[in-house]
Amino acid sequence: MASSRRDPAVHAAVEQGLLTPDEPVVALLDADGIRASATALRAAFAAVAPDVRFLHAFAVKACPLVPVLRLLDNAGLGAEVASPGELALARAAGVPASRTVLDSPAKTEGELREALALGIALNADNHQELARLDALVARTARFPHVGLRVNPQLGAGAISALSTAVPTSKFGVALRDPGARDEVVRAYLDRRWLTRLHVHSGSQGVPLALMAEGVAELYGLAEEINAKAGRLQIDTLDIGGGLPVNFASDEETPTYAEYARLLADRVPGLFDGRYTLVTEFGRSLLARHGTVLARVEYTKTAGGRPVAVTHAGVQLATRTVYAPEAYPVRIAAYDATGRPRTGPDVVQDVAGPACFAGDLLATARRLPRLEPGDVAAVLDTGAYYFSSHYGYNSLPRPGVHGFTRTAEGVRFALVRRAQSLAEIVAESGGDDPDALLA
Ligand SMILES: *Cc1c(COP(=O)(O)O)cnc(C)c1O
Repeated sequence: MASSRRDPAVHAAVEQGLLTPDEPVVALLDADGIRASATALRAAFAAVAPDVRFLHAFAVKACPLVPVLRLLDNAGLGAEVASPGELALARAAGVPASRTVLDSPAKTEGELREALALGIALNADNHQELARLDALVARTARFPHVGLRVNPQLGAGAISALSTAVPTSKFGVALRDPGARDEVVRAYLDRRWLTRLHVHSGSQGVPLALMAEGVAELYGLAEEINAKAGRLQIDTLDIGGGLPVNFASDEETPTYAEYARLLADRVPGLFDGRYTLVTEFGRSLLARHGTVLARVEYTKTAGGRPVAVTHAGVQLATRTVYAPEAYPVRIAAYDATGRPRTGPDVVQDVAGPACFAGDLLATARRLPRLEPGDVAAVLDTGAYYFSSHYGYNSLPRPGVHGFTRTAEGVRFALVRRAQSLAEIVAESGGDDPDALLA
């Protein structure tokens, strides 16, 4: 979110009492921004492939909040789900089965049966899952929408934990292992109902060229299978998500339009209208539109360096705290009234509330010197941050407020209320304190 949108929202959040001494951390979501990203995604692919039918399925794990899924559904997107919980969220948001895709490397037989009964598309991860599906498909009345995920084994991006196309990745069928490609082709020729093919070559840190290479491999394999089948058996290609986000500045790079043009250049047949295409973007749709606001509780110096102790730390920015090089976040300083803090930059640490030494959002960062009562804003946290809470220290999930700008100013709507202490106790076995005494 650019500062021109963020600054009025932060000020309004403070003025309207969203952030208080008793609720010292909240998250904001820019609803107009989310809608604009959904529109940009659809427009980018429509521009290079006007004859193609698309399903743009939002990867729910990036922001598993029902009102967000509903907003994206309203903007014409679907949902990519990877667990019974995510499927339940998508259904609660009203996302229709025809716009839902189930991916997960560990689907149980019950999950597979439910997906087939609901008419949800799913991508099998491996040959054992296909064998399990043989029996289930035979007993299902509706036509199944089933694909197979393949791993083109093209190599890693900058973040190993998010690189899904390495030779030893746990996801999909590893295409370059000896005999693997032939086995995949055979699996399709043996199953007329297998009509889709899926790749997701990785997320943040994977360069666009490598993602496009993965899609080219997918396309080549589909063409080979269809040629051998003598018909368009595979009619839907799911090219995954993974567009990286620039966390270093407000500049949006790369864009959906760049990626779509690169694909049109590199894999022109993909867009000629024979295939229905599915995308599964997560981070790039939401990251920019979320901001965490945390009150600065105390400030001090340690080893000569100023430290601001805030209420946002590992519970919201888990990956950043444990792997700060791979997941850096920008911080913006606001004063206690929610106005941008001015003054000379000072090298300081911004710490979270958790009881371990590594709970730092930023180390030796240049910022206007934070004071108690100030607001530290953690930028670009709309995907994979406050929506995927980590329960360390029994710190509560924060409230999430969506906002839009109207003629009267910034208007907030509660997306998720903050977790209460009673809920934390109940979720922690509090319903039966005597359980271990019997
Ligand atoms: C996580 C994931 C995505 C979304 O990745 P982003 O980097 O958030 O775009 C899409 N597809 C699959 C299968 C995933 O696991």
